[in-house]
Amino acid sequence: MKFMDEYRDPVAAERLTAAIRKLVTRPWTIMEVCGGQTHAILRYGIDELVPSDVTLLHGPGCPVCVTPLEKIDRAVVLASRPGVIFCSFGDMLRVPGTDRDLLSVKAAGGDVRIVYSPLDALAIARENPDRQVVFFAVGFETTAPGNAMAVFQAKRDGVRNFSVLVSHVLVPPALEAILSSPSCRVQGFLAAGHVCSVMGYIEYHPIAARYGVPIVVTGFEPLDLLQGIYLCVKQLEEGRAVVENQYSRVVSESGNRPAQAIVAEVFQVVHRAWRGIGEIPGSGLGLRGEYGAFDAERRFDLSEVGPRPEPEECIAGHVLQGLKKPNECAAFGTRCTPEHPLGATMVSSEGACAAYYRHRWHEARRTRHDAE
Ligand code: SF4
Repeated sequence: MKFMDEYRDPVAAERLTAAIRKLVTRPWTIMEVCGGQTHAILRYGIDELVPSDVTLLHGPGCPVCVTPLEKIDRAVVLASRPGVIFCSFGDMLRVPGTDRDLLSVKAAGGDVRIVYSPLDALAIARENPDRQVVFFAVGFETTAPGNAMAVFQAKRDGVRNFSVLVSHVLVPPALEAILSSPSCRVQGFLAAGHVCSVMGYIEYHPIAARYGVPIVVTGFEPLDLLQGIYLCVKQLEEGRAVVENQYSRVVSESGNRPAQAIVAEVFQVVHRAWRGIGEIPGSGLGLRGEYGAFDAERRFDLSEVGPRPEPEECIAGHVLQGLKKPNECAAFGTRCTPEHPLGATMVSSEGACAAYYRHRWHEARRTRHDAE
């Protein structure tokens, strides 16, 4: 397969669906880890194509969704300071903090700029030596190499007015946290192919063995997802629990070594709080001591911002752990919409609530109407 359309071929999709149907003898629950996979599943109706005995749960792999409220509040405080140019990927701008989001800071005159790369933020710092430039460094293993490179270059070139507000998270500890929960329903995972393209999948072997769950590294096109589900169900039916690689056209077992090297140079593993979930030990990246001068939380006094409670009616934490689906939230589509989001899973282009709103809204409304 060389071209995009081939990964969306309806005849091949039907063949794979039939193969899954033939395999299934009992109910199975599989979690796709990445928000991009969730959107593809809902967009192409893959959850409706597979047999009803196969339940797909949506995982925590949406970086915007899991960035803690406190970090958003810190970003808002920094962006509001005179003399600061605050740079971020666009989808962070509408994530609600406790009182407001970055977009409203921008509307009020704050110098908040959307960039497409951390190196763009570094370039802004070079062009504005009399201003402090802060980049909001969020995301999983996929964005960490680029962010690490920006900090590395800033240190190497002595760009002293550049810093990063870091909220990096790591996938394997999150999978372990989900599997360790007494309420865990997950029997197999579709691991996020793009994360594995950077980190490989060596780290997944002990998780599959320890918890007895199949983990299939899976891509993002409809046929990728159907094939990932097929491989996962096959293992479950055969009583096996190993790591398999559906996305071999992109992912190798050892991943991208140069990318891993720059991440290891700049970052170290730290404990990290996940929005709606809480702290997961060893689940984040923070700057190493020798790069500490580029840490915005050290450079600026942010002591005014402490831990904040989440909006009470938002169940995004349960959604991110696969314990509830978005349309089980009482606020879904009424008090919480993409225009007026209560939680980050409704804001982000990768959020499960936004995916349901876009692709399952009529169905959710019908279900609620029937229930009332
Ligand atoms: S629908 Fe809105 S309020 Fe409900 S869980 Fe999703 S983001 Fe939170």
